Amino acid sequence: MNDVLKLKKIIEQADAVIVGAGAGLSAAAGIPYGEKEFKKIFPELVKRYGMTDMYTSSFFSFAREEERWSYWAKHIDFLYNIEAKKVYIDLFHLLQKKNYFVITTNVDGQFLKAGFDPGRVFEVQGSLSKIQCAVACHKKLYDDKEMITHMLAFEKDCKIPTELVSICPVCKGKMEVNLRKDSFFVEDDHWHKLNQTYENFIHTYKEKRLVFLELGVGFHTPGIIRFPFEQMTHDFKDATLIRVNERERTLILDIQKKTFLVQEDCASFLEKLKEKK
Ligand SMILES: [Zn+2]
Repeated sequence: MNDVLKLKKIIEQADAVIVGAGAGLSAAAGIPYGEKEFKKIFPELVKRYGMTDMYTSSFFSFAREEERWSYWAKHIDFLYNIEAKKVYIDLFHLLQKKNYFVITTNVDGQFLKAGFDPGRVFEVQGSLSKIQCAVACHKKLYDDKEMITHMLAFEKDCKIPTELVSICPVCKGKMEVNLRKDSFFVEDDHWHKLNQTYENFIHTYKEKRLVFLELGVGFHTPGIIRFPFEQMTHDFKDATLIRVNERERTLILDIQKKTFLVQEDCASFLEKLKEKK
């Protein structure tokens, strides 16, 4: 890999760091999106629905709302109950004294758990800690923690009681988790505020020494982090891109001189960065 000390210096000397985090970061944190762990934690979901992992299971089409909410209650509760993972804590320590901003497509809440400032973490694809009207009849998000706890207390045989199924308080239709999976994704005031903060942050530092630290971002939704990071590295005079990715490091733009491509798992990269004096 590239010289860790050199990358550490670049980050230390930067006026600001913009972190872009994708699924690879949570995968490195060991959050069980993989099949093996999923089988162990949710055997009833594997048996009943043939589900294989946390990501694809979230697109499963349930016959009944009672089953759908039983599934989501388990999935979300699992994320609530896991601790802040080391890779996120290492990243937090790395950035603690920096001007930083985070944009992430991850929806598992790990940044906030690890201590990041909520005003500097833009969860652009939503968060599993919120629910919304399924057809976005109003642009409000609701915390789901209490609801989930209540559902699980009465959950049985992969179903919750009908009276606990979540209903939109405005149109009385279905509710949905706040994930961007269709055109009804709700972007509330908080989402728009963070989007603006992100744009302001870029504007403030575009002429300065700005580091784009891209962690585990693949080609699932490259238009959100990966392509813009390359474009801004290309356009801004003193910008540097550090792309940490085990498999997909190819650059689209001609920015080799301003880019460090690190073929490594995010967890071991951040661990090395932390150790290096
Ligand atoms: Zn509604």
